[in-house]
Amino acid sequence: MDAEFFRAWIAEIAAVIGAQRDHLTQLDAAIGDADHGTNLARGFTAVQQALAAGETPTPGSVLLLTGSTLISKVGGASGPLYGTAFRRAAKALGDKPEADLPALAEALEAALAGVMKLGAAREGEKTMVDALAPAVAAFSASVADGAPAPAAFAALTDAADAGAHGTIALQALKGRASYLGPRSVGHEDPGAASTVLILHALRDVAARQER
Ligand code: ADP
Ligand code: MG
Repeated sequence: MDAEFFRAWIAEIAAVIGAQRDHLTQLDAAIGDADHGTNLARGFTAVQQALAAGETPTPGSVLLLTGSTLISKVGGASGPLYGTAFRRAAKALGDKPEADLPALAEALEAALAGVMKLGAAREGEKTMVDALAPAVAAFSASVADGAPAPAAFAALTDAADAGAHGTIALQALKGRASYLGPRSVGHEDPGAASTVLILHALRDVAARQER
């Protein structure tokens, strides 16, 4: 996976976040302040502009510019959290021209660690961590088992889907939704839902490359 692959991933994220903007905002309307979709759509539009304007010769440079742009352009909790995730992944990839599956697994683990540290969040608190953590664990385990790319990416997205669905039953303990207390139960976490979209985009771009 080279820089072009990672630019294609970000472009796919921008497309699906744009398409799902209103859905994400509706999820946030139920337990937050109804801005998650617009926050991320604005952020990834800015990322696309930054990538078009700048040179990003390596996977790491693509993700670094993505993360920095999200941090500077997205208000709300999700900007710094996703921004940090992409920046930490970038750092893990370093300046190598290509990333193989084990390198991508390490980058995703670094991204998860960054989110958990910045958000002081653990699994079970009804945040994006509830989609990202099981997805990263499943992907890493699959890659460590020597699974081929399609199986590893399927493990990634299956675990993310299940994790995001699982947030419906949880009470929010972090972020704005936690202000609702027990009334936050019964709604999918918007950040978990956007994490699903971001990871599906990765799987879909990888599947396109396989062909
Ligand atoms: P805001 O809550 O500031 O309006 P967004 O609506 O863009 O920001 O994003 C909300 C999402 O951010 C939540 O659904 C949740 O997944 C995630 N989030 C909020 N706080 C935290 C945290 N401390 N740790 C991890 N994720 C968090
Ligand atoms: Mg919000």
